[in-house]
Amino acid sequence: MAADEQRICVFDTTLRDGEQSPGASMTPAEKLLIARQLEKLGVDVIEAGFPVASDGDFKSVRLIAEEIRGTEIAAIARAIAPDIDRAWAALKKAARPRIHLFISSSDIHLKHQLKKSRVEVLAQAYAAVVRACTYTDNVEFSAMDATRTDREFLRDILEAALAAGATTINVADTVGYAVPDEFGALIAYLMKNVSGMDQAVLSVHCHDDLGLATANSLAALRNGARQVKCTINGIGERAGNAALEEVVMALQTRKDFFALRTGIRTEHIYETSCLVSRITGIPVQPNKAVVGANAFAHESGIHQDGLIKEKTTYEIMTPQSVGIPASRLTLGKHSGRHAIKERLKKLGYALTAQELDRITLLFKARADREKRISEDDLMAILREEALRVKEIRTLVDVKTAETAT
Ligand code: MN
Repeated sequence: MAADEQRICVFDTTLRDGEQSPGASMTPAEKLLIARQLEKLGVDVIEAGFPVASDGDFKSVRLIAEEIRGTEIAAIARAIAPDIDRAWAALKKAARPRIHLFISSSDIHLKHQLKKSRVEVLAQAYAAVVRACTYTDNVEFSAMDATRTDREFLRDILEAALAAGATTINVADTVGYAVPDEFGALIAYLMKNVSGMDQAVLSVHCHDDLGLATANSLAALRNGARQVKCTINGIGERAGNAALEEVVMALQTRKDFFALRTGIRTEHIYETSCLVSRITGIPVQPNKAVVGANAFAHESGIHQDGLIKEKTTYEIMTPQSVGIPASRLTLGKHSGRHAIKERLKKLGYALTAQELDRITLLFKARADREKRISEDDLMAILREEALRVKEIRTLVDVKTAETAT
């Protein structure tokens, strides 16, 4: 067990599993840009790629291993000699290299994909870890499809990997099948029953097929896992991986509950999210937790009123804590008088109570008719009213004159 039992190792696989998102293929130069940003963000391990998969991936891993000196660099390999050798060839110049090898452990995969017996797979896993350990003492072993694996066999194969010299053991919910309580219990079982586990780090890798990747990762951390694998914006194979920003901000926002911490400099989360989205071409859904365009936007009039009075009424974390400049009060039919008043104030207008009532009424009527309503619409309403009511017209004229000069 690590000296600091509260410290979680954040293993980022944006450049490997994340790149498995359809259409997300990146050049070595693009991967290096993201790797630099991940180093700035403070991740503990960057998984740079799958060197045997293609020449481009080999080059990416080698480039990142040479250039990024402050973060551990990992490369993935199947549990076969050519993969392991190729991974090491790409990694060897890294300041702190890690070979990450994997093999399936579930009967479904053994029977239909590997066409091997449990005994054969266990022996292969052992031999692969031994081989990787001839290159480096930093070897991670992953049981693929671990969550659909017989518990006793999973225990046996993990023990074999540890006996062969693995320093990190990763339990992969490769197909996003686990649910939090069950997954937490599996991790607790492995922590207790895998001999040698106390000398290594237990890691988890969760997929989001049922929208549970973050919840499953957190359940695992509650039960003794001390490394979490994630990607920026949750990109990855199929429905993606646990999102780094979600896991990290859950731990930070609810440290009263988890009593765990990471080395992530959270104020760089948003810029990292934007960079990954721009380079991969995968947009971030507006309602995405932490980094979505609406994550700190408030539309309900009741919420807006509370927020103007005191931010903690409706915000559990500040936008600044993840590097977003400010929360946003959106304008919509749910907006209240208080939000409209604030917005007008920001634009330079101080209306009387009566004028504000009238503008709010007109604004809501328009918002009822239209899906999107903007500041421009608010200004148009103000101008139309100004033509009708002398007082507001004066205000608008004064403002127009001011901005004209
Ligand atoms: Mn995966």
